[in-house]
Amino acid sequence: KESVGEEANYPRWVRVNVIKTNLEDQLETTFSAFIRASSVQDVITKPGKHLFIDPHVPNLVAVTSGTDLTKTEAYTSGKIILQDKASCFPAYLLDPQSEDGDLIDACAAPGNKTTHLAAILKEHRPEFETSPQIVYAFEKDSRRAQTLDKMVTTAGSNTDTRIGFGQDFLQVDPRAERYKSVGALLLDPSCSGSGIVGRDSMPDLHLPGISSTTEKGATGKANKRKRKHGEIEAEEPCNVIVDDDGNETILKSEKDLETRLEALSGFQLTLLLHAFRFPSARKITYSTCSVHMQENERVVMRALQSDIAKERNWSIMLRKDQVTGMREWPVRGLTSACGGNEDVADACIRSYKDDGQGVMGFFVAGFVRLGTQDAGSG
Ligand code: SAM
Repeated sequence: KESVGEEANYPRWVRVNVIKTNLEDQLETTFSAFIRASSVQDVITKPGKHLFIDPHVPNLVAVTSGTDLTKTEAYTSGKIILQDKASCFPAYLLDPQSEDGDLIDACAAPGNKTTHLAAILKEHRPEFETSPQIVYAFEKDSRRAQTLDKMVTTAGSNTDTRIGFGQDFLQVDPRAERYKSVGALLLDPSCSGSGIVGRDSMPDLHLPGISSTTEKGATGKANKRKRKHGEIEAEEPCNVIVDDDGNETILKSEKDLETRLEALSGFQLTLLLHAFRFPSARKITYSTCSVHMQENERVVMRALQSDIAKERNWSIMLRKDQVTGMREWPVRGLTSACGGNEDVADACIRSYKDDGQGVMGFFVAGFVRLGTQDAGSG
């Protein structure tokens, strides 16, 4: 129940799906009764229905919390998607262009970022271009893959998306013929979920989040707590540890946080290094809805120091090379967790759920591959 209070400190973030509509049309229809606010804080605090157009992520608005949009025609027909602002960072930061070829969303369900990628591709696609770029969306959990399929269809991105139902990204062969044109990958793996609104931020080694807000794995039942926020509801229950080989262990009780984070970060690093192996890949984003440096900057640093990164010339996407909205986003990585490397810390994008921006706790970093054609290694 206390999360109801916490969620009241947040707006409802709504991404306008440009595959089916555009921002102007939605302002005139779905949101015609909303008063235009001058800040997110006004949306959160002022009485009545307010709307604020986000200055960082294109086609994103914040509306008054508690507004039920799920019954609107715009929602049911996929014209609008309920997606936290921070969850929009990865696809926007990846900034797929027509010359990037095909894309991979490695850990895709329920599909917020897959559908966002497809929307950006559509916006960037030149008029004369008839053959679409393909988004390969892998999801290891078959049940969640069904949800992904539904979301992709509702959002109208099914023509450009190929879903890997029950497909483990680690089992995908980077050298396979069908992935030879994959130029960019989005990697948003399972994480501790410590940035999710309504979940304890786990400031110490006590883990109430496991038993109170993520009942699914522990009890075998679906998450019982009702959540109104579409994005939060869509996030994966995170009481599952996956080791380097992809074996899952469901946590049945409170577990030492460090052990848990170590297992998660090992898995996250393995996925990231796998993404580094795609021969034509030039861009990758790595993201979590965690605030823990072990899953964030530390994974980034370990990835940058890996042999495969060196062999294949992967480096961090510096702030100066990021898309405008992400370059301007003020909250950056932790320098101490980057071994004192200020450039890497500044390249990392963070958000905290209590910093007044009205977004969930989140982390994203971009990687770019410099240099020549694939040398054939890896
Ligand atoms: N990107 C999604 C979105 O924005 O809607 C949320 C992804 S959620 C944080 C992580 C997902 O990765 C879960 O659905 C999980 O089942 C899936 N997953 C975990 N390990 C995987 C693997 N090895 N290959 C493919 N999917 C995996």
